[in-house]
Amino acid sequence: MGECIFCKIIKGEAPAMKIYEDEYTMAFMDIAKDVDGHLLVIPKKHFTNILDCNDEYLINLMRTVKRISNHLVDDCGYEGVNLLNASDESAGQSVFHFHIHVIPRKLGDNIKAWPNFGGAETPTEDIFKRISML
Ligand code: AMP
Repeated sequence: MGECIFCKIIKGEAPAMKIYEDEYTMAFMDIAKDVDGHLLVIPKKHFTNILDCNDEYLINLMRTVKRISNHLVDDCGYEGVNLLNASDESAGQSVFHFHIHVIPRKLGDNIKAWPNFGGAETPTEDIFKRISML
């Protein structure tokens, strides 16, 4: 199996439109051309997704996500962001190197970034009893 494409980007072995980099993280434009300004923020160490990412990298990843979000709003003319993540194939993950999608937003931009789930099938109370950690 070929090496992880995001690891290749980190090593400079694959191209990317990089917008930010520090010791722990990197951010670059998503190649999907599906929505204006679509960015990805990744840890510079390989983790599959949030389920195996360690706290050190997770904290720094979220710090970068916030820094970039503030930059988009404070310096780039946007008003907000959507943050999206798929962790595991069951959740729709297609690249198995942990990443957070950042979608810059403006009021009235007509971007449908929030999924239309179509309605719950199970009473909320039943799920609550199964998943409560308290
Ligand atoms: P996900 O389906 O949540 O795992 O998202 C993977 C994302 O990675 C998709 O939005 C792809 O467009 C994006 N992607 C895949 N390869 C690259 C690449 N070489 N450079 C930038 N984005 C990429």
